[in-house]
Amino acid sequence: MRMQNKVAVVTGAASGIGKDIATVFVREGGKVVIADLNKAAADATALELGGPDKALGVAMDVTSEEQVEKGIAEALAHFGRIDTLVSNAGIQIVAPLDQFPFDKWKLLLSIHLDGAFLTTRAVLKHMYSRPGGGSVIYMGSVHSKEASVLKAPYVTAKHGLVGLAKVVAKEGAKHGVRANVICPGFVRTPLVEKQIPEQAKELGISEEEVIKNVMLKDTVDGEFTTVDDVAQTALFLASFPTNALTGQSIVVSHGWFMQ
Ligand code: NAD
Repeated sequence: MRMQNKVAVVTGAASGIGKDIATVFVREGGKVVIADLNKAAADATALELGGPDKALGVAMDVTSEEQVEKGIAEALAHFGRIDTLVSNAGIQIVAPLDQFPFDKWKLLLSIHLDGAFLTTRAVLKHMYSRPGGGSVIYMGSVHSKEASVLKAPYVTAKHGLVGLAKVVAKEGAKHGVRANVICPGFVRTPLVEKQIPEQAKELGISEEEVIKNVMLKDTVDGEFTTVDDVAQTALFLASFPTNALTGQSIVVSHGWFMQ
C-alpha cells in the first residue's frame, strides 16, 4: 500500500493516462481528486474508484485561475491535505508550423503550461504551510526531449515543463517538496487515437503507416507504451521515500528516446 494516507490531485483524470494513475493510486491505498474539464466524466470516474471516501470529482479548467483555486480549495475541504499533484491534463493539435493557427497555439500552451503553473502554485501554498512536503509530477512526453514534425506547440510546452519542474525542485527543496517529469512514448488513449487519422491526412500516408513508421518507428520493439507503464512510474515518483529524486525527467517509451 504505497499511497496509504496520501491524497493526490490528478488533473485530466477523467480519461486516459490520468484515469489510470488515479486508479493505481487508489489501489495502493491513496485518495484522489479527479480534476477535469469534463465534470460528468470526473464524477463517473470518482464513483468507479469507490466514491467520496476514496475519490472526488472536481470541475476544473486548468487554464482558469479561478477554477484551479476553487478546485484545490474543494479538494482540501474534502480530504484535508494534498501530498501529490499530477499535472496531467493535456491536448494535442497537429499542423505544420507555417500554417499553425495562433488561437490553437495559445490554447495548447495554455492548457499544458498555464495549467501546470496554476495547479502547482495552488498546491505549493498548501504544501509549504505544513510539515511533510509533497511530490509534484508533470506529465511531459518524449516530446520533452525530442521533436516531431507537426507538433510545434506540444514540443514547446513539453520541453517547458522540464524547466518548470527544475525550478519547483530548487524552490520547493527547503519545504520538502520534490518535482519530476514523466516522459511517455505513444500511449493509445483518445488523445492518440484522434491523431492517427489526422497525421495520416497531413502526411499523405495510411493510418497503419502512421503507427508503424511514425509513432513506433524508433522504439526498440515496435510497441506502444501503456497507461499502466505510465501509472507505475507516477506511483514510483509519488511514493519515493526521500527527496533525493527531484528535478528529474524519466522517459518511459520502449527506448524511442534514450538519454
Ligand atoms: P486524454 O485525451 O485521454 O485525456 C486528457 C484529459 O484531460 C481528458 O479527460 C480531458 O477532459 C482533460 N482536459 C483537457 N483539457 C483540459 C483542461 N483545460 N482542464 C482540465 N482538464 C482538461 O489524453 P491522455 O493521452 O491521457 O493525455 C494525458 C497527458 O499525457 C497529456 O498531458 C498528454 O500530453 C500526455 N501524454 C500523452 C501521451 C499519449 O501518447 N497518449 C504521450 C505522452 C504524453
